[in-house]
Amino acid sequence: MKMKNITVIGAGTMGNGIAHVFAQSGFNVSLVDISQEQLDRAVATITKNLDRMVSKEKIDEATKNSALANIKTYTSLAEGAAQADLVVEAATENVDLKLRIFGDMDKAAPADAILATNTSSISITKVAAVTGRPDKVIGMHFMNPVPVMKLVEVIRGYATSDEVTNRVMEMSKKLGKVPVEVNDYPGFVANRILMPMINEAIITLHEGVAGVAEIDTVMKLGMAHPMGPLQLADFIGLDVCLSILHVMHDGFGNPKYAPCPLLVNMVTAGKLGAKSGEGFYTWTRGSKDLVVSPSFS
Ligand code: NAD
Repeated sequence: MKMKNITVIGAGTMGNGIAHVFAQSGFNVSLVDISQEQLDRAVATITKNLDRMVSKEKIDEATKNSALANIKTYTSLAEGAAQADLVVEAATENVDLKLRIFGDMDKAAPADAILATNTSSISITKVAAVTGRPDKVIGMHFMNPVPVMKLVEVIRGYATSDEVTNRVMEMSKKLGKVPVEVNDYPGFVANRILMPMINEAIITLHEGVAGVAEIDTVMKLGMAHPMGPLQLADFIGLDVCLSILHVMHDGFGNPKYAPCPLLVNMVTAGKLGAKSGEGFYTWTRGSKDLVVSPSFS
């Protein structure tokens, strides 16, 4: 079966990056969001990122123009998924929302289409169970920022077929990515290891062991991490981090995954990190010149 038409559901941080890499690799992309404003913002972000690649001579102007021409936007999932060979869902990390979207995707997409999710932690087996094609449901977990990061964590649900797994592994390679196959348990591999580290960094801050900049500097210079865990949490989105910790806490029933109360409070207060302008750092001036948030300085 050909794989030419890709539908991406959700045009936020991840959805715009996923649409970008498919479009740049020559696929037809239908980008779907409930918000026209988000769709417009996503196309503006993709254009800006492609422009930056042209100025760095990583791609030429013609590649940029054909990538942009490959993207169409929709506010209707039924219209956006009607011709899909592969749907990649990248909507908000919320179980009930994903279950509803997978039910809708199952009705809207052609019967032989593969339904993938970019979820960071939610069970692939669970979202597959609301469809009539659980063998064709799989996790395709891209990393942020998608155009830069090489990894795709390919997650097999309980019923995912070998054929579908192989096709998604091959598709990831066509995007210039390195796919790694893993099984479906809460947090998979990437977040099962990353989120306890981020949560522990927040607990360390909460207990007054050290400040924001000090914690991040220890992990950057001491462990050769490219950015500290608190900066990374801001970058991922504190709401996304909290959702993932909840999924692991519920899924394993182990108190070691309980989210730090400081993280809960920050999300409740709307301090979501880079996307809201403030988290552990202030982001109103972009990502250059990191400034610790006044709440922690
Ligand atoms: P985001 O909040 O930036 O964007 C979510 C988008 O989904 C928004 O544009 C919203 O309007 C849209 N949306 C909500 N309901 C919808 C619906 N019914 N139909 C279509 N669109 C809908 O979130 P994000 O950070 O891009 O995360 C998206 C997914 O990617 C989540 O599952 C998250 O766990 C996963 N993920 C995030 C990261 C990260 O670093 N942020 C990394 C890997 C995976």
